Amino acid sequence: MTELDSKIEGSYPIVKHHLDAPTLAELAAILEPGLQKSFKTASVSVTACPNLYDEPFYLAAPGLCGSERIADVGGLIHLHPVPNFDKKYSLISIMNQMELPQNQSFVLGAGAGPFHQIGHNSELIPNLSIGHNGTNRTQFAEIVNGGDYHSGPVPNGSTDCGLMANLFGSEGLPGPVLKITASHRTGPLNFTAAIQETLQSYYGERPVSLGGAFLIKKGKAKTHVMPDFCTERLEVGEAFDWLKFFEMDAPLVCPSVLHSYDPGWGLRMEHTHCFGLEKDGTKARGGHYHGDTTPETVEYEGYFNTAFSIYRIDQPPH
Ligand code: ZN
Repeated sequence: MTELDSKIEGSYPIVKHHLDAPTLAELAAILEPGLQKSFKTASVSVTACPNLYDEPFYLAAPGLCGSERIADVGGLIHLHPVPNFDKKYSLISIMNQMELPQNQSFVLGAGAGPFHQIGHNSELIPNLSIGHNGTNRTQFAEIVNGGDYHSGPVPNGSTDCGLMANLFGSEGLPGPVLKITASHRTGPLNFTAAIQETLQSYYGERPVSLGGAFLIKKGKAKTHVMPDFCTERLEVGEAFDWLKFFEMDAPLVCPSVLHSYDPGWGLRMEHTHCFGLEKDGTKARGGHYHGDTTPETVEYEGYFNTAFSIYRIDQPPH
C-alpha cells in the first residue's frame, strides 16, 4: 500500500463481543435447504477458498481466513437527520482496533466514503490489506452532475471512511470457507436476506455473523448511491427518497457483512456494497446492493466465513 498513513489519529470508543460460531459444515447443512426455499437452485458447501485476489473477485487478499472478526463502526445516525462531520474514520486505525495482526490483515465491506477527502458524500466499498503486497483495492461511487453515478478506485489511495462502516476482517489467508451458489430466485428475499432468514430461523437468539463477498455473475442488481449531503434535515422516511437508485449490470462483486440476530449490541444487521470494474467498454459500477431485478436469470456465487468476535466501534448513543 502506498498511503498507509491516514491523517486521522487516535482510537474510537469500542466494545468487543465474543461469538460462539457454528462450524462451517453445520452452517452448510443448514443453509443449503434454507436457500432452496428462495432459489430454484442453491448449493452450500465447505471448500478451499479460491484465490479471491484474482478477478473476477479482485479482493485485496487471496482468502478470508485467520482471526476472523467483524467491525460495526459508527451508524446511520451519523448521516440522518443531519450529517455529523466529526465522524471521519481511518480504516487502518480500525484494523488495529479490531486487533488484527499488524503485519497481515485484510478488511472488506460497506461504508460511507471519506467526505473530508473526496469533498462530498459517497458510497465506499472498503477492500484493503496489510501484508499481501499491501493492496488497496477500495472502490467508491458518487453522484455526479445530472444525477448519474461515477465509480472507480477511491481517490489518492485513501484509507479513510466517513460516518459508518461494516467490515469483515481476517488475515486474508486461504483456507476453508462457505461456498454459496444460488440461481433463479423464486421468492421475495434477496441473496443476503435469504441467508439471514435461514440462520435466524435455525439459531434464534444465538447470533451468527458472516462476512465475505459474492459475485452476481448474471443479471442485474438494484443499487443506490448516496448523493451529496442534504442541506435540510432529513427524517428516516424522507432519507429513502433522497437516495439515487440504479440498475447495474453483472458482473458485480459484492462485499457483505451480515448477522442473524442482534442481542442488543446496536448492530446494523446487513450491509452489502458492490462494484464492477470498467472492462471492454463497460462503465465501472458501484453502490449499495438491494437485490437483483432479474430473478429468472440471476446467478450468485459467494464465499463467506464466520466471525468469532464483533467490535462495536464508536457506537452512537441510543
Ligand atoms: Zn450502504
